[in-house]
Amino acid sequence: MSDDYDVVIVGASIAGCAAAILFANLGARVALLEKHSGMDAYKVLCTHTLQPSCMPVVKTLGLLPLLEEAGARRHVTHLWTRWGWIEPQDEPGREPLPHGLNVRRQTLDPLLRRLAAGTPGVDLRLGHSVNGLLEEDGRFTGVRVTAKGTQSRLTARLVVGADGRGTTVGDLSGLPVRLSANNRLGFFAQYRGLAEDTASRVWFLDPDTAFAFPNDDGVTVVACSPNKEQHASAFRADLEGSFERFVRALPDAPRIDRAERVSKIIGTRDLPNVYRRPYGPGLALVGDAALATDPLWGVGCGWAFQSAQWLVDAVGPAVAGQGDVLPGLDAYGEKHRAALDSHHKLMEDYSAVRPFNVFERLLLSAAARDAGAARHYHAFASRLIDVKEFASPGSLLRAARVNAFHRPRNAPPKI
Ligand SMILES: Cc1cc2nc3c(=O)[nH]c(=O)nc-3n(C[C@H](O)[C@H](O)[C@H](O)COP(=O)(O)OP(=O)(O)OC[C@H]3O[C@@H](n4cnc5c(N)ncnc54)[C@H](O)[C@@H]3O)c2cc1C
Repeated sequence: MSDDYDVVIVGASIAGCAAAILFANLGARVALLEKHSGMDAYKVLCTHTLQPSCMPVVKTLGLLPLLEEAGARRHVTHLWTRWGWIEPQDEPGREPLPHGLNVRRQTLDPLLRRLAAGTPGVDLRLGHSVNGLLEEDGRFTGVRVTAKGTQSRLTARLVVGADGRGTTVGDLSGLPVRLSANNRLGFFAQYRGLAEDTASRVWFLDPDTAFAFPNDDGVTVVACSPNKEQHASAFRADLEGSFERFVRALPDAPRIDRAERVSKIIGTRDLPNVYRRPYGPGLALVGDAALATDPLWGVGCGWAFQSAQWLVDAVGPAVAGQGDVLPGLDAYGEKHRAALDSHHKLMEDYSAVRPFNVFERLLLSAAARDAGAARHYHAFASRLIDVKEFASPGSLLRAARVNAFHRPRNAPPKI
């Protein structure tokens, strides 16, 4: 292939591979550039739960059967709250609840990269690190890339930054960026032998949180996000002891003492929220390059798949048909904002570490007490409905009614 393409995509992880496959399926010639040289490279800093919202894209890519064959676990997440467990169940006589998938990145990333590499029209170039953008007449026209110490240029009608949270493309593009602090730590480890953990579980300790997600190959990821102010010095002084004490103290805690830890304790003390404008002239950002939000909600992988799909829906026909990509880029930016802005604002606000507000208390307490309210929460946490719909006047009224008629388990019977 020559070094002139319809699309150059920087980063061959979730967002980049998904975009490459979808563009190529429309007939576009795609260069997919990845700085790592190994086909099996994967993102270590991730607890890899995929939300139900991204399942349609996973299916479109043809990835679902491959992941299930590789042992990915379907899940509907259960949540511990101080009002009890929220355990969403199928509604009798209706479609089953939409499920997500848990699959380790060491399984997911190589499978998806191979799928992209095998898609006609995709030219995957491993060991290619992008370090510059080409510009002409006020629009981006390609990238500068280094491979094995040699510099070269690739041109394209669309440049896509899918290069993650620390995006070089985003930085070089000069697109506006909004940063905010995340006042939580994030640590996790993989265990074998937590066989009783069949559901994905999240603990909302208000304001701290923890998770246990069963994955492929009998591995459960156990994670915690304690607030920095109270826990940072203890986690710095004794990571293993602090992590294990935190997990053991959870209500209905995963029995980590009976299980085998099969990874190091992995994590980070600093993960700010980063939101970039997702497009410029001749350039788009997808996945974390556009929006890297608090990992506590387990949404980044799903949004990487989904933003790739939104971009291809908006500009794919123009890219593949040699039309003008600029109007489609505006449409992509608007779709991205409409779909993710309200979710991210709430996540950003919660990452400052605050107790639940009055609406969250109302909706979560009702979800712990009522099957319909639990399904409503599931739709929100799965990112299938937005904040406005989750906390609509009707939902708040229904939650208030649930709570008004709720009687604690040990209350004396009504006469
Ligand atoms: C602690 C933690 C836990 C998380 N847990 C979850 C979870 O449970 N569920 C969830 O949905 N999300 C989770 N996330 C978020 C999730 O990991 C990301 O949202 C997701 O990986 C984003 O995918 P991406 O393809 O946009 O970027 P990435 O997966 O970061 O991939 C970027 C790719 O670009 C390549 N690259 C970078 N720079 C260049 C360059 N200059 N040239 C060429 N290639 C380059 C990289 O090598 C990499 O392959 C978590 C994040 C963290 C930090």
